Amino acid sequence: MLAASASLLNVKVIILDAGEHAPAKQIVAPSAPHLTHVDGSFADPDKIRELARKVDVLTVEIEHVDAATLEEVRFASQGKELAIHPSPSTIQIIQDKFRQKQHLSLHGLPVSEFLEVESSVEAVHGAAQKLGLPLMLKSRTLAYDGRGNFVLRSLDQADEAISALGNRPLYAEKWVPFVKEIAVMVVRTGEGEVLSYPAVETIHKDNICHLVFAPLRSRDSLLSQKARSVAEKAIRSFSGAGVFGVEMFLMDNGDIFVNEIAPRPHNSGHYTIEACETSQYENHLRAILSLPLGSTALKVPSAAMLNLIGHSSSMEEITKIKNTALNIPGASVHLYGKSECRKGRKMGHITLVAESDAQLRARLRPLLQSLPESSS
Ligand code: ADP
Ligand code: MG
Repeated sequence: MLAASASLLNVKVIILDAGEHAPAKQIVAPSAPHLTHVDGSFADPDKIRELARKVDVLTVEIEHVDAATLEEVRFASQGKELAIHPSPSTIQIIQDKFRQKQHLSLHGLPVSEFLEVESSVEAVHGAAQKLGLPLMLKSRTLAYDGRGNFVLRSLDQADEAISALGNRPLYAEKWVPFVKEIAVMVVRTGEGEVLSYPAVETIHKDNICHLVFAPLRSRDSLLSQKARSVAEKAIRSFSGAGVFGVEMFLMDNGDIFVNEIAPRPHNSGHYTIEACETSQYENHLRAILSLPLGSTALKVPSAAMLNLIGHSSSMEEITKIKNTALNIPGASVHLYGKSECRKGRKMGHITLVAESDAQLRARLRPLLQSLPESSS
C-alpha cells in the first residue's frame, strides 16, 4: 500500500523482503537495473547494507528490524547522511516493549503499571503478587498479533507461560479492564510537527484486529479530542519522521491508557485510503520526504475496515468475501497478493464508506455473514 501510494508521486521504491514475490514487490516493478529489489531478511545486516547503498531515504514498515545496522548504515556513505525514518533510536525503543513503556511513562503518558520479569517461575509469581491476577505477561521483543502475550490467570500457569513465550525476555503489565480499544494514527515531520487522524474504535478477535470503525462514537463529545491529544503527545516524544499508530485502552470512567505504539503505517489506519483526505501511506511518504503533510480529515461521515484473516488453508473463503464485497456500494477490496492462505494470516481487508452509521451497518452485515463460520 505504501508502494502503491509512492507510484502516484513518481517516487521509486526498492523493497527488502525475503520473498522474491513478496506482496510489495508485486506492486513496483524494478524500473532500472540498479533499482532491483533485494531478496533477504530485514534482520540481516548485509541485506540492509545492500538496500542502503541503493536508496536516498530508507523507511520500515515493521519494527522488528535490525536497528543497530540501520544506525551503522546511516553514516556509511562518505560525506552524506542517509535519511532513515523513523530514526533507528525510535525503532530501538519501540521494538522492546518494556523500554517503550518506560519511555512513555517517563514522558508523562498514561500507561498501566508494568515491571520487568525474569523468565523464572519465582519471578512470575513475584510479579503476580505485585500486580494481581489476571496478569498480562508479554515478550519484550518480536511480538505481534498477540503472539508474545500470555494471560496468567492462576499462579500454577507460570511454567506454561514461560515456555509459551519461548523463554524470551519478559515483562508484566497490570491487567486493564478496558471498555473499548481505540487507536489514533499520528503523522510526524522530521522537525517534530505532528498531525493526528480521527480516533477510531478497534475490535480485536483472538488478539488480531478484526474491525475498525471511524470515527469513534461516544456520548462524551470530548473523548475523541482527548484521545488525539494523548496520541500526539506520545509521538512528540520520539524522534524521526513518519506515521505512527497509537493503540489505547478506554476505561469506563473515560480514562485513557496507552497500550503500545507502532512506528509505521498501522492496521487501524487502513481505512484512511478511502475515508480520509490523505491516506496514512501518502502522509508517511510526505513526512519522510520532507513534503507538506496532507489533511487528515475524514471525507465521509462513517467508515469501517474489516480485516480478511485466513481461517483455513483455502483461498476460497477469501474469494467468497471478495465476491460479496464487489456487490456492496461503498466497499473497496484490498487483497495483498499472498500466495497461500493460512489460519490467522492477514490476507487483505475491505473498507466500507457510508453516508451514515446506519447505512454503514447495513453494508457491513452481508460481509460479516459471508465470513467463514465462527469468525464473524
Ligand atoms: P500485539 O503486539 O500483539 O498487538 P498488544 O500488547 O497490543 O500486542 O496486545 C494485544 C491485545 O491484548 C491488545 O489489543 C488487548 O486486547 C490485549 N491486551 C494487551 N495488554 C493488555 C493489558 N495490560 N490488559 C488487558 N488486555 C491487554
Ligand atoms: Mg497491539
